[in-house]
Amino acid sequence: MPSTFTQAMATLGAAAEFPNTYVAQWKQRTGGKAIGLFPMNFPAELAHAAGVLPVIIQEDREPITAGRNLLGEFNCGYTRNLADQAALGRLDVYDGFFQADHCIQLLGAVDVVREDEPDKPVYFGQLMSSMGDEWTFPQVLEKMNDFRVELEKFTGRAVSDDDIANSIEIFDENRRLMRSIFDQRRHGDAALAPDQIQVLVKSSMIMDKQEHTELLREVMAEHGPVPRDDRIRVHLSGHFCHAPNPELLKVIEDSGAIVVDDDLFHGTRYVSTDVGSTDDPMAALASVYLRRNSAVPCPTRVQHDVDWDRFLVDSVIASGAQGVIVLMAKFCEPHMLFYPELRKALEARSIPLLLIETEHEGLPLESIRTRVEALVERIRRKQLTTV
Ligand code: SF4
Repeated sequence: MPSTFTQAMATLGAAAEFPNTYVAQWKQRTGGKAIGLFPMNFPAELAHAAGVLPVIIQEDREPITAGRNLLGEFNCGYTRNLADQAALGRLDVYDGFFQADHCIQLLGAVDVVREDEPDKPVYFGQLMSSMGDEWTFPQVLEKMNDFRVELEKFTGRAVSDDDIANSIEIFDENRRLMRSIFDQRRHGDAALAPDQIQVLVKSSMIMDKQEHTELLREVMAEHGPVPRDDRIRVHLSGHFCHAPNPELLKVIEDSGAIVVDDDLFHGTRYVSTDVGSTDDPMAALASVYLRRNSAVPCPTRVQHDVDWDRFLVDSVIASGAQGVIVLMAKFCEPHMLFYPELRKALEARSIPLLLIETEHEGLPLESIRTRVEALVERIRRKQLTTV
């Protein structure tokens, strides 16, 4: 009989791989509505408080066909896949769509969703990307209030402060549990492989949070610390909006590296910051939007007193990672523009670095294997020469 761990992982894995099936079953089971959220900053707690299922729309594994003609070839794989999902009806299970981020490529893809789902609300409330100005907090708060009003219109019911505070608590609990898994990994427990950790995070973006938390507890109850092996410790950096291909993660660990930390959206970035208990939940949601960027800086935001490069170097030192593998979605402009800063900061500290560009289809796994093996070899030689 499969263990509780195996069963819990299988349920989480199914939701992560087939979000639309999970959403359809959830709707049938509860009679509720589900909304599709676009990454990376929509306050899902508000949607939960309004009684709907908030789901961050995931890149799926289908080859891009119709979506190819709807957006430029120079759009990132996530946005082209999103356009494909909309054009071919794979987003029909959602009752509405909400967005808070304004990457130009994402805006194009959301326009395709608007065109292909004409009977459903598609709401865009742009959160400020300039994070450190005097007017930032009041404007973010105003935008949070707009989201609340729009969700009330969408559901036809008022959302109370108590509802929001309750949802915040539920989300914070889920984040805390997942952070404890990341902390264990950083400090030596490598019981879960990166593709398994991705399943935990991705399913949390999709499933009802309390259901997810229960399954997470079952996973955690059965996996204790394991001795660290002698693979080379690496930090995975980058990859916004959508999860790196799990096969790529397997190749990295099969090539002699072990992932000890990351700053991926489908990783520590997603769970980095709690909202916390408060008498003013709207102000708390506005504040967490700002605090999250200080916790794990994102190049889609502008903040003069925080730097992703400094954060990356500090993270590497804290986890004892021996190298960094940057996973960059092809044509992701904010990442491409920031990458030279990362490279300079890592080179200044003599931290070995490998850049892997990812695509929706046609990932050259064997060539990636060779490059990761070369990075591992380079780090091993460096170890020998510094002993
Ligand atoms: S931030 Fe990058 S990955 Fe996200 S939609 Fe924009 S280009 Fe695509």
